[in-house]
Amino acid sequence: MKPVYLDIAVPIPIRRSFHYRAPEGIESRRLKPGIRIEIPFGRQTLTGILLSVDGKTDYDVEKIKPVIRIIDDTPVLDQILFRLCLWASDYYQHPVGEVLHSALPTLLRQGEAIHQSVSILTATRQALPDEAELKRLNLKRSPRQFSLLHRLIANPQGLTRSELRRQEISSAVSRGLVDKELAEWIESRPTGKHFSTEELRNEPALDLTTEQSRALSDSQQPGTHLIFGITGSGKTEVYLQAIEGVLKRGKQALVLVPEIGLTPQTVQRFKSRFQIQVCVLHSGLTDHERLDAWRQARQGSAAIIIGTRSAVFTPLFSPGLIVVDEEHDASFKQQDGFRYSARDLAVLRGQMEDIPVLLGSATPSLESYSNALSGKYSLSRLTLRPNQASTASYHLIGTQHESLHDGFSPRLVQLIKNHLDEGNQVLVFLNRRGFSPVLLCQNCGWIAECSRCDARMTYHLSISSLICHHCGVQTRVLGNCANCASDQLVPLGLGTQRLEQTLNQLFPDQKIIRIDSDSIRRKHAMEKLSKDIIAGEPAILVGTQLLAKGHHFPDVTLVAVVDVDSGFYSADYKAIERMGQLLLQVGGRAGREDKPGTVAVQTSFPDQPILRTLIEDGYEIFASQLLAERTRFDLPPFSYQAIIRAEATNAGVAMQFLSELAKRTTNSASVMVLGPVPSNMEKRAGKHRAQLLFSGKDRRTLQSCLSETIGIAEQSSTVRKVRWSVDVDPVDLF
Ligand code: ADP
Ligand code: ZN
Ligand code: ZN
Repeated sequence: MKPVYLDIAVPIPIRRSFHYRAPEGIESRRLKPGIRIEIPFGRQTLTGILLSVDGKTDYDVEKIKPVIRIIDDTPVLDQILFRLCLWASDYYQHPVGEVLHSALPTLLRQGEAIHQSVSILTATRQALPDEAELKRLNLKRSPRQFSLLHRLIANPQGLTRSELRRQEISSAVSRGLVDKELAEWIESRPTGKHFSTEELRNEPALDLTTEQSRALSDSQQPGTHLIFGITGSGKTEVYLQAIEGVLKRGKQALVLVPEIGLTPQTVQRFKSRFQIQVCVLHSGLTDHERLDAWRQARQGSAAIIIGTRSAVFTPLFSPGLIVVDEEHDASFKQQDGFRYSARDLAVLRGQMEDIPVLLGSATPSLESYSNALSGKYSLSRLTLRPNQASTASYHLIGTQHESLHDGFSPRLVQLIKNHLDEGNQVLVFLNRRGFSPVLLCQNCGWIAECSRCDARMTYHLSISSLICHHCGVQTRVLGNCANCASDQLVPLGLGTQRLEQTLNQLFPDQKIIRIDSDSIRRKHAMEKLSKDIIAGEPAILVGTQLLAKGHHFPDVTLVAVVDVDSGFYSADYKAIERMGQLLLQVGGRAGREDKPGTVAVQTSFPDQPILRTLIEDGYEIFASQLLAERTRFDLPPFSYQAIIRAEATNAGVAMQFLSELAKRTTNSASVMVLGPVPSNMEKRAGKHRAQLLFSGKDRRTLQSCLSETIGIAEQSSTVRKVRWSVDVDPVDLF
């Protein structure tokens, strides 16, 4: 019999696949691309994924090993997800085995079965037994069984094991009912379910404004739709109604959000609108829960799936819609390993599935905005706040001639006082946690620096420690200078903890709530703090960009931006776009209901034109100006970029490695290879870092140049001395 060779993607960081021998006599129809196969690899046993089947091989036939076991009958990833992964592996130049693996929940990577026959517990009759029978069955004495029976009768669709578990019903209770023949386990069949309005909704939908109706009807066409709506303009309401339409046709909706833990309110809105279960993929799930959710989505029993970045790979039984909320958010781009953009993959997946994709933002990314202008995406603008809330008014407070009290100008302090006096809440924003970014010795001029990074240590007063925000190193401050032992150490500059302390002095009777990654480290901390805020007592909220994300705090009427300048002066051309987005997002927290909102922005450069444009003319003109600049300098989205980064323990090695690549790569007129240059922070966590930038007008030529360079890198004699990575469409240039 002719041997059959299997081309298998193996989850290792090598950019190629491997050939194995198929089990003898296996029927070829069982060898579908996308199935999982257990294989020997070196001394390990790994789970690979079948890419293709071949009758011949270029490798040494003697050395080709047989597989251990074919795991699946059906592909673990459906055809579209499989193609999406292959595309992503190619586009992001990441090893295909790792890409396919990262699309799967952990337990599936370990060989767990795709299907679990989902058993559903249902009642065997439609009414509760009569008194006599209750007595005979001893049900009066088992209140738990009785209450479960009650529930099953009220809910003819029955309950799955995981639903029972979630409602804390023990298996003894369900067994009791089954023994009494009052309930039975049935197998569910994966079917798209058509819901009626009454079945679906817990609460009525709102009457849409004209703008919202237009956005909704646009969003029912296949294609990508950008909903560019100011904060509070009712984008979420549009998503909810678009999803409702999809569910009524028996289809599923996938919703991608930046960070679930930070915005419990958004998830809550979905849950309170719909009666059906909303499946939330958050980081707190156990591996089993995650697999459960994956299965439910794949079988169609979960109709709404909300998740962060990696949820873009969730299989859907009958896909109807993908929503990407806050599409501009940088968290959609993975920053290590397989550096994909979940937003861009969502758009591609939507095209492959031929379903609509909604991208929503008050501050769209320049890429999406320019795609909307060029007609690639449809564009709906929501310019009004439907619930009568007026949009916030912005005030620049020039601080160049003011004496600041720990960052606060007298005008800002007065403004905060006014808002608090009226019984409102004030949000004070600074995008730097800790107490102060610098600790200086006034005697000798020593500054606390990280020994492992080219960076200063941030002073954290509450734990009297210095922490490096780049590598996490922490040292205690003993009160004396490390250089001259003087005790004249002074913290310079501002962090959120320092603002909190200053505000405590300025407003001793006020409740102050600090929100930054230090204060919400504990589980559910954010949920608890946001509950406190929503309760509405006058309070000052102090925090970082965590406070800017999609929250709806009805009593905040003043947002105070303590320092806007740092964001506007950066070497990264994307910094201005990000600062503009952040400023409007945080400003959007002011005046979300009937009380008008004010945003006060402190700056030493109140005449800075781009800042004025943003505030006076709005995001769209701001974005158009940035786009004009990007065209002029051939920057993305009018060109494409990729970065190869390298780091090594010894100085100079990363530079040497990248120089070799730059030298050996074929010169092409249409791709610029810039550098290598040492990274902005040359040393980080003890490693010396450098980078090589690729830039080109044409995606395809850039890709082929990049892939040639990667080939050279893999063969390089220095490759063993460095850690290196490829980043296509980088969001961070440094
Ligand atoms: P966004 O997602 O754009 O920030 P939301 O959907 O959260 O906006 O809406 C902001 C507020 O406006 C919410 O309180 C919401 O209930 C309300 N709202 C949205 N659409 C309408 C509408 N058509 N009529 C009345 N209120 C609305
Ligand atoms: Zn000193
Ligand atoms: Zn460090």
